[in-house]
Amino acid sequence: MQKVGLFRSIHLKFVLINVMLILIAMQIIGFYFAQRLEDTLKENFTTSIIDRMNLAEFSVREEMLKDVDEPSLSTRLRTVLSSVTSDDISEIRVVDTKYTILATSAMENGSMVGQRFPDDLVRKSIMSESPDDAIYLDSMKRIWILVTPIISENKVIGAIYVKSNIEKVYEQIEEINQILAGGVAVSLTITIIIGIFIAQTMTRPISDMRRQAQTMAKGDFSRKVRVYGNDEIGQLAIAFNHLTNQLQESQSTTESERRKLASVLENMTDGVIATDRKGRVSLINDSALAMLRLTRDLVLNRPITSILSVEQEYAFEDLIQLKESIALDFSTDEQPAILRANFSVTQRETGFVNGLIVVLHDNTEQEKIDMERREFVSNVSHELRTPLTTMRSYLEALADGAWQDKEIAPSFLHVTQTETERMIRLVNDLLKLSRMDSEDYDLNLEWVEFNDFFDSIIDRFEFSKSQDVKFNRLLSNEDFFVEIDTDKMTQVIDNIISNAMKYSPDGGEICFSVTQSDDQIQVMISDEGMGIPKANVKRIFERFYRADRARSRALGGTGLGLAIAREMIMAHGGDIWAESEEGKGTTIYFTLPIEHQEEGEWD
Ligand code: ATP
Ligand code: MG
Repeated sequence: MQKVGLFRSIHLKFVLINVMLILIAMQIIGFYFAQRLEDTLKENFTTSIIDRMNLAEFSVREEMLKDVDEPSLSTRLRTVLSSVTSDDISEIRVVDTKYTILATSAMENGSMVGQRFPDDLVRKSIMSESPDDAIYLDSMKRIWILVTPIISENKVIGAIYVKSNIEKVYEQIEEINQILAGGVAVSLTITIIIGIFIAQTMTRPISDMRRQAQTMAKGDFSRKVRVYGNDEIGQLAIAFNHLTNQLQESQSTTESERRKLASVLENMTDGVIATDRKGRVSLINDSALAMLRLTRDLVLNRPITSILSVEQEYAFEDLIQLKESIALDFSTDEQPAILRANFSVTQRETGFVNGLIVVLHDNTEQEKIDMERREFVSNVSHELRTPLTTMRSYLEALADGAWQDKEIAPSFLHVTQTETERMIRLVNDLLKLSRMDSEDYDLNLEWVEFNDFFDSIIDRFEFSKSQDVKFNRLLSNEDFFVEIDTDKMTQVIDNIISNAMKYSPDGGEICFSVTQSDDQIQVMISDEGMGIPKANVKRIFERFYRADRARSRALGGTGLGLAIAREMIMAHGGDIWAESEEGKGTTIYFTLPIEHQEEGEWD
């Protein structure tokens, strides 16, 4: 915040206002006072002169009317005049009606006696028979001239001319004015000093509040404004402190709300993206970043349409209008990813669009399940239709008369019988799988020594084998005790061994081994048959998957054997996988957990 300049500050304004007010008051008082003083002093002065003048006029008239020769009139008059002269009267003259000076109080003007003195005022006064006065400047000094006619029995017999020193009165006024000006100066100085202090008491809390507002803007609410008193500024300071508290409270509420929202967003499994009103991403949570496989700095401030890779289909305005959710395919070769995006617009009451909120839901699993289900249904229908069509054509041939042919009829009936068996097997397999899917089956677990168990199954195959295939058992002498459902495990191993034989038409060697690693045993069954193309090795555990459909069907396979085996191994807590090379042979591995035998446990 900028600093307030001295000439704009309340401080200076306050002092100036004070000084101006005092100055104006002093001016008015001074003017009135000086005027009155001047009037009073002048009046005092003139009355004192007039009083003495009247006295002089009386004495002079007496002397003029006396009929005495010795001493002469001028001497007598001078005596009278000298008795009335004082400091303020510089000279008194007595003039007869012919304007001849009869006497003067001033010694130095003694020579003027007998001379004519036709002064204007004297003349006017004698003529009008009334006193007259005027102020003159005499060598820069004001003098007051007063002329009074001497009247005896209604006849003017002369006049008294008084020259008084009124300058003294003005000097006195001047002196008093100076004292007054000095007083004004002193009182102004005191006013300024007091004004500065008073102004400070007002501006200090205001500056305090200004500083407080500055620190508040920086997010620090710990400071409080000092309250100096209970006046309006004190009240303002209290209100300001209250406001600070309120602000702090509401800020902490907003902050905690923000944190709550952030933690909700971060812990959501659904992805959330928010944009500004131009469609640029302003917020995105970790789930959304993981779903889109992007980093935050790559996403922020970029257009939402490009982030969702829909810029070809939709503009930002279209997304705002969008009512339904849309599916987004972010699958890569390694990883399928189907997302469902829901859009909602954040709007003001006026309808002004503030932005868009996109909620992303990972639909990959759902989509995968849906796809598998569709595929499964189509596979099942296909697998059932094939034997049914075969049977229908044979049955038609029989109905058309082939039943009478003793040669053909039995073989035709045999075909329909094997096809029926195949269908029964298929349906049984499907039932098995569906039971395992619904997980409402129990394993009949029992403790068996795996080597013995495995050996007896291999024996069974060795006795009944029709192919020229060699069995190679690499079983260890160690005992491996496992807890298994023997029926189900027999089915698993049967399938793997019969596969090995089925897909090794040219014989070769089938190897069996059991090894132990950590807390599980690993069972291996390898053949030297036709193998499986590398890309499809993993797929042989899928339902209905067959690497070579025609051949496998000819061999009576449904493609469910390994799928069932996998489910069963999983149910036992193990794992199953395959390694294969086309033309060289296939190896199937599976693991089963074993119980470690503590030494001496069976002693
Ligand atoms: P079913 O076992 O239901 O009678 P199937 O043998 O065809 O039919 P699976 O046992 O699930 O089905 O095997 C799936 C596919 O995997 C087979 O069709 C075959 O193509 C391939 N396969 C399995 N084992 C071998 C193997 N040892 N050598 C070569 N291919 C194999
Ligand atoms: Mg099989």
